[in-house]
Amino acid sequence: MNLSQFPRRRYTEGQTPLEFLPRLSKELGGPNIWIKRDDMLGLAAGGNKTRKLEFLLADAMAKGADTLITCGAVQSNHARLTLAAACKEGFPCHLVIEERVPGSYKTDATGNNFLFHLMGAASYTVVPGGSNTMEAMEKVAEKVRQQGRKPYIIPGGGSNEVGTLGYVACAEEIMAQAFDKGLKIDYVVCTSGSGGTHAGLAVGFWGNNTKIPVIGINISRPTETQRPIICKDAKATAARFGLDFPEEIVENVEGYVGPGYSLSSPEMVEAVKLMAQTEAILLDPVYTGKSFAGLIGLIRQGRFKQGENVVFIHTGGSPALYHYKDYFAE
Ligand SMILES: *Cc1c(COP(=O)(O)O)cnc(C)c1O
Repeated sequence: MNLSQFPRRRYTEGQTPLEFLPRLSKELGGPNIWIKRDDMLGLAAGGNKTRKLEFLLADAMAKGADTLITCGAVQSNHARLTLAAACKEGFPCHLVIEERVPGSYKTDATGNNFLFHLMGAASYTVVPGGSNTMEAMEKVAEKVRQQGRKPYIIPGGGSNEVGTLGYVACAEEIMAQAFDKGLKIDYVVCTSGSGGTHAGLAVGFWGNNTKIPVIGINISRPTETQRPIICKDAKATAARFGLDFPEEIVENVEGYVGPGYSLSSPEMVEAVKLMAQTEAILLDPVYTGKSFAGLIGLIRQGRFKQGENVVFIHTGGSPALYHYKDYFAE
């Protein structure tokens, strides 16, 4: 796929590692588990949004924007990384914070919230969960225009046909690494949240004719509402290459959200501890802990054969681990 037709900024030196996890694979007794370390991407503390922001910031700059506006939950990795990209490019960044769990926004909270204040967002607008965040961002944009500046709105999670290109690029990076290592990949497993990661990987592996299935684990919605979000984003992204993406290849797995988005579950706690104790890799409680719990569940259900190679995409999020440390109390 010709990604070079789209403008891109670079926020990571080289590639993120694609590592084999021998102790974890042995412990689970299923397929060979590999991990794509996108928690080690560039910008403050890394994570999957960095790949999307490479294309989003380039698009903003091509359009002459000089101010960023985005939205996210109280511990949003996306808000932290958008602010980080803004700092790096010398742009002010306004945040709309959605309080998805009532009463959860505290200005002195640790984790990502602390990093918002450390890097210094230009403004914070806190709205209740379920609000129309696009409307709230449009209102901020109007104020920014009145100040004589040019705003660029980045949707939640950076998941649109621009940001999603970052995960088309990731699919190509993984294919090149697998070729280098002589590794035959049988499955890719990722988190399915705002959708850009899942959709971009699905488009990238399909568009390069690899036939590698991408399995997205839901972390906030049931499949009935999550899958259409992925299909729409994948279609729009593939259309930018003049391709007609086949929706029927999109696979979502539900059952690992627990009591709700960002809330604890025993499966998540088990998954985060297992990864830390066997491979010394830090997952997060909101996204990767739940999606890895989903992978453990699929292994226990016998989805994969012995000897198959499964690549788990580590999308980052470790700053939130410290904020949610009570989830791991003995
Ligand atoms: C945003 C995020 C995800 C979900 O990725 P989407 O592209 O929004 O689906 C997964 N993991 C972490 C750590 C994230 O911050």
